[in-house]
Parts: sequence; C-alpha cells; structure tokens
Amino acid sequence: MNVPAPTPYRAPVDEVMLALEVAGLSELLELDVFAHVDRDAIRSVLDEFARLAEGEIASGDRVGDVAHSTFDPASGEVSAPAEFARAYERYVEGGWGALQIPSALGGGGFPTLIATVLQEFFASANLALSLNIVLTLGAIEALLQWGSDEQRALYLTKLATGEWSGTMNLTEAQAGSDLGEIRTLATAREDGTWSLSGTKIFITWGEHTLSSNIVHLVLARTPDAPPGTKGLSLFLVPKFLVAANGELAERNAVRALSIEHKLGIHGSPTCVMEFDHATGFLVGPLHGGMKAMFTMMNNARLAIGLEGPAVAERAYQHAYEYATTRTQGRATSSSTATNSPIIEHPDVQRMLLTMSTSTQAARLLIYRAVAHKDLAHQLGDGPLREHHQEMVDLLTPVAKAWSTDRGLEAASTAIQVFGGMGFIEETGIAQRLRDARITTIYEGTNGIQSIDLAFRKIPRQGGAHARELFDEIRQSLAKHDEPALRHATSLVLGALDVLETTTTWMIEAVTNAPDDALAGATLYQRLFGDVVGGWLMIARAARAALLARPEAARALDEATFFAIEFCGPATALGAVITSGAKRLAPLRP
Ligand SMILES: Cc1cc2nc3c(=O)[nH]c(=O)nc-3n(C[C@H](O)[C@H](O)[C@H](O)COP(=O)(O)OP(=O)(O)OC[C@H]3O[C@@H](n4cnc5c(N)ncnc54)[C@H](O)[C@@H]3O)c2cc1C
Repeated sequence: MNVPAPTPYRAPVDEVMLALEVAGLSELLELDVFAHVDRDAIRSVLDEFARLAEGEIASGDRVGDVAHSTFDPASGEVSAPAEFARAYERYVEGGWGALQIPSALGGGGFPTLIATVLQEFFASANLALSLNIVLTLGAIEALLQWGSDEQRALYLTKLATGEWSGTMNLTEAQAGSDLGEIRTLATAREDGTWSLSGTKIFITWGEHTLSSNIVHLVLARTPDAPPGTKGLSLFLVPKFLVAANGELAERNAVRALSIEHKLGIHGSPTCVMEFDHATGFLVGPLHGGMKAMFTMMNNARLAIGLEGPAVAERAYQHAYEYATTRTQGRATSSSTATNSPIIEHPDVQRMLLTMSTSTQAARLLIYRAVAHKDLAHQLGDGPLREHHQEMVDLLTPVAKAWSTDRGLEAASTAIQVFGGMGFIEETGIAQRLRDARITTIYEGTNGIQSIDLAFRKIPRQGGAHARELFDEIRQSLAKHDEPALRHATSLVLGALDVLETTTTWMIEAVTNAPDDALAGATLYQRLFGDVVGGWLMIARAARAALLARPEAARALDEATFFAIEFCGPATALGAVITSGAKRLAPLRP
C-alpha cells in the first residue's frame, strides 16, 4: 500500500542496558539457571533484535494504521497487511519467541527480563502487531503453569516458535470489568472434552492467518457452577483441533463474526468471537479459571504496562527530532538574530523532559517488576522467593496503570510539541496518541488496577509488603550521597513520607470507609508510581555514575527534573487522596 514513509524508530539499546542494571540484572545473572547468559550475549541479542524492530517490524506500523486489518464476512477471514505477515515470519524464523522459554523445553533459557526488552522494542516499532506476540507469550505462561503434560507437549513448542499464536477470551458484552457476569457455557462431553458455546467480544487477534493455528484460552462457566467468578473455568479451544501426533486436524467450531472499527491500533484485529459447541479442553482445576487466567492476565498487565514507555519512547524520538528542526521565535538564550529551533524554548524543553524522564521511569518500573518475577520464578521455596513474589504482586497494578497513564500523556504532549502539524495526519505523530489511548483501558482499566492496589495489594498482612518496599527505598536512597543527587533525594524522601502516611490512611479507609478509599484509589496509585519512579531514576543516575557511562551527568539532571516535577507535588496529592468521597458530592445521592 502506498502510504507516507514510516517515521524512523531507533531502539534505545544503550539506555535499556542501563535500565537492566537498575532493575536487578546482576542478581539474575548470579543464578545457575542463567549461567550461559552474560552481558555480551544480552547486548548482541538486543542489537540483533533492534535491527529487526527498526526495519521490518516498524515498516508495517504506518501501513497498519492506514490500511487496518480487514474482515471478509463471506469467508469469516481476517487479513492483516502484507508487511505484518513478513515481519511476523522474520520473528518466527529468528526463534525470538522462545528466548525466555526454559532450555529444557528447547528455548533460549534467557531471563524473562531480556524478553521484555524485545517486547518493548516490538511495541515501539509496531504496537498493533506486537499484541499478537503479547497474547501468545501469555498463553505460553498459562500453559507452563496450569497445562497438563499432554497439553504442554501438544501446544507449547509451536506457541513458543510463533508458528501458532494465542488469545485471551474473557470479555463478553455484559462482562467487562466484572468477569463474574461471564455466560459462555462449557458442557462436559463423555470423551472428557468440553463443548463451549457463547459470544466473546473485543478479542485481540482472535482471527488471522499470520500463524497456522490459534490457541484460544477461554473463560467459561459450567452448568452447575457457583455464580460469579468462583464458577469460572479456563478452557483451551484451538482454531484447528490437533491430532495426538501434533498434526493439525479439523476446523473447530469457533469463528470471528466481525471486527471492530477503532480509534487506534488499526492493524490489530479486535474480534467478536462465536463459540458454537466448540471443542475445548479444561486447563487447570474445574472452577479454578480465575486463578489460572490470572497467570495470563498478570503477565499481560506487565506487557501492557510496557506499552506505556514503548509508545512514549517512539513519540519522544519523533517530537525531539521535530523540535530540533522547527524554528519559531527567538529564544532568550539565542545569540543569533534568526529564529531559534523550538527546542531552545524553555516550555518545549519542559515538555520534552517530562516525556523522556517519565518514559525512563516507567521502563525502570516495569523492568524492576519483571526482574522480581524472574527471581520469584527461579528461586526455590523460601522467604526470598516469597519476597520477590510479593513485590511482583504489589508492583503489577502500578506498573500497568502508572506506566500507561504516563505513556498516554507523553503521546499527547508529543502532538503539542508539533503544534498544528501534530494534528495533521501526514506527520504520523497522531497515530501515537490514537494507539496509546487503549493502553489505559484494556487488560483491566487503570481505575480497576488502582482499586486492586488499594483494596487487595496494600492491605495484605496489614500493609507489611508495602512497608518492606518503602524501607527498601529509604535504605537504597541513603546509599547515594552524591551532592548532585541531594535535592532529588530529599524530594523523593519527602514524597515517600506522604506515601507512607497516605498508605496508613488507605488501609484504614478500605475497612472503615470504603467509598473514601475508592474515591482516592487512582490518585494513590499515581503517588505510588511517582515515588517508585523517583527512587528508580535516582538509582539509574547513581548507576550511570558508578559505571562511568557517558550519559552519567545527564542522568543526574534527569533524576532531579523527575523528582521536582513528579515528586514535588506529593503533599498536595496526598491531601486530595485523603479528602475522601465527600468531594464527589455533586454526583452522590
Ligand atoms: C481494542 C481492545 C482490545 C481488547 N482485547 C481484549 C482481549 O484480547 N481479550 C479480552 O478478553 N478482552 C479484551 N478487551 C476488553 C477490555 O479488557 C475491556 O474493554 C476492559 O476490561 C474494560 O471493560 P469494559 O469495556 O466492559 O468497560 P466497563 O467495565 O464497562 O468500564 C467502564 C468504566 O467504568 C469503570 N468501572 C467499571 N467497573 C468499576 C468498578 N467496579 N469500580 C470503579 N470503576 C469501574 C471502568 O474503570 C471504566 O472507566 C479489549 C478491548 C479493546 C477496546
């Protein structure tokens, strides 16, 4: 298709190598299971994947936005742009999907943290296509944890290579945030399989021909199941049934009825799926569907959180380039008589730094959560494993919500940097905002993530896990006493004090005044992310200085900028959070 050239994307490999160090790469590389992985190997993997992302993967990005994936009602087929198919093929040929699959199962045996970087580059280069990969990785994880030996043997290898892809089928018209309303029915058959009937909506990459089979993971209710989420079970429903020898057999009774017309991610088909007595296989225990699906959902929450910095990075690169070439007005700092590039105006500098520092902080937050996840997965049972799992649980809703909120703001700010040209489609920057808009909605809206943080994650064991994290932040900040970081450190510590007080208020309110807690949950999540982000930005600056990295001086200034802009307003934010539900009076009975 003839569309304007895509905006170039440069994968930030150097920056990512620094972020990995801050996230906890050293701890991971000390584990025996990763003895075959070192920093040189990681660097070469990232360099090689960066070339694929910047080249073939990015080449379909603009085409997908303009041409969309399409649906043929006669055949029920969904077609993605040809550029998507080529990029997907390269991904499969390169074996990239198996990088973090355990070596024992034929994969690369790398930490998930490194595969996360590949996902980030993929999402920056082509968000719509990257969703296909995200869902497949989620299906792999769910099967690794909950699948029977037979299911793993039949499906895992092909999913890992990407020859087959995965989907996640939760949403129905009456069941969005409230999955307890799911009605898709699964009835037992005599041969041990299940018959699934119902209609799912909004299923990402629910139908397509990039892969030769699609493995749908479906939440459904059995006839005698208890109401609500407790009665849900998880089923594997392949598009083509699979014979015992692994060969594809007949087409299953699952098909796309239509695809949605959307604000963004046009290349990603969002399907209405009909299950009409489709053959399914139970995954995990009967009525244990939510627990099993949570494996996939938590994986997807971190992956969707990652879309925040991924989109923001791309938007920043484009806005930065524009700001260095567009001239308007004369900057007060200019020594020439001619107009200055807009990057010399303080307000444009403020916009660009807000974008770049929040992108870095969001990246660090996600990587940190994923490193905890890797450690929790690899360490044997014991208090250390539990600690890492608690940190994953605590950080996941913040990583999803805070990072995508910042990504969305950054995409919008990028348009502001472009001025009127940002609103004109030719520049391509508008696509970033349209694509970013979904990230705060799907995979559990950011409002629901915030409620999860306030009502489930924080109150666990009377707030002990949150306090553990706060203590870690305080101890870590005490280690960095570089004069250049003192201002930033005092701002983050001040915001941490507010967060601790607000956390105590929140835990109390959850029990005694739940509406007050609900009214404050989203801003509480914001404050939580600001503090963790501030801490990680200081750790990044300190690490850059320690490693004598060329960007060390700049990293110090970036940590200070972030602390002033994001942690400075903590006291005011704390006051709003604890003001309770009475401020909502205009809409309350
Ligand atoms: C492009 C796209 C792709 C998607 N991909 C998939 C997919 O692959 N698989 C899948 O299963 N689903 C998918 N979804 C569905 C998505 O996860 C849901 O849209 C999302 O969870 C929100 O549900 P909803 O749309 O029904 O909104 P609703 O639940 O109706 O929410 C509307 C608003 O009310 C708020 N709200 C709802 N309940 C509460 C509450 N209890 N307390 C406070 N606020 C509340 C929400 O935060 C939101 O702001 C996709 C959706 C889209 C648009």
